[in-house]
Amino acid sequence: MERKTLGKVLVSCICFLALIYALASMDRSNRLHRDDTATMAPQSDQTSRSNHPSAPQKIMYLTFDDGPSKHTQEVLDILDQYQIKATFFVTGADEASFDLLKQIHNRGHALGIHTYSHSYETIYSSIDGYFQDVEKVEHLIYEKTGITTHILRFPGGSSNTISRKYQAGIMSELAAECEKRGYAYYDWNAENGDGDPAVSADALYETAIKTIKGKDEVMMLMHDGAGNGNTVQALDRILQELMAQGWEFRIIEESDDMPIFHHTIAN
Ligand SMILES: [Zn+2]
Repeated sequence: MERKTLGKVLVSCICFLALIYALASMDRSNRLHRDDTATMAPQSDQTSRSNHPSAPQKIMYLTFDDGPSKHTQEVLDILDQYQIKATFFVTGADEASFDLLKQIHNRGHALGIHTYSHSYETIYSSIDGYFQDVEKVEHLIYEKTGITTHILRFPGGSSNTISRKYQAGIMSELAAECEKRGYAYYDWNAENGDGDPAVSADALYETAIKTIKGKDEVMMLMHDGAGNGNTVQALDRILQELMAQGWEFRIIEESDDMPIFHHTIAN
């Protein structure tokens, strides 16, 4: 072989080896990138899991019975501070507060019927007596807000036994009749215990937090009637704790998707 030809062959070989080396480096570098991605993937998965609401949601329906009253304005203001919406089961007990119905509605809360008179004798003596009383509140709500509502809460809840004194079996009949007439009633599965207005604000807070323990879906019974000043005193603290526990707040809607909160009927 001539020296010149030998030189050409050597140069070609060096070029070829350099090319092989370059290709091998590229492949190694690609592999490294793939490995990076592979090790990163689980981390980003974990991040999206912890930020994503795939963890079970805790749903809270706050409800206030027996208003509107002189305490309702303050309840509305405290709820606004936390941007929390609630449901108010109203009565006709305090004419001076009727205009608050409009405010309850305008601020995005739900309105439900608790009966006009809240008199067990009037509402639990007959089916007609109950629905006449219900219609009075329905008209009042319509007059003040322009809306009609078909959500109800029985005074004393559907499980009350006081009604037996006025008519045996009336709660079973009313529950069935409500459904027939297109109303939906809601009892509760947690409360602050303010059915007795003498209970201190501290005790109301303790009861509210105790009765939601271990639950993921809560219908909380509270009151904003004329005697419920302590409820207002306890409310701020209760809401702070509920927010810290990560509850999502909802209002009762007229929808088939609403969960059912029914006590066992005892009359
Ligand atoms: Zn009540």
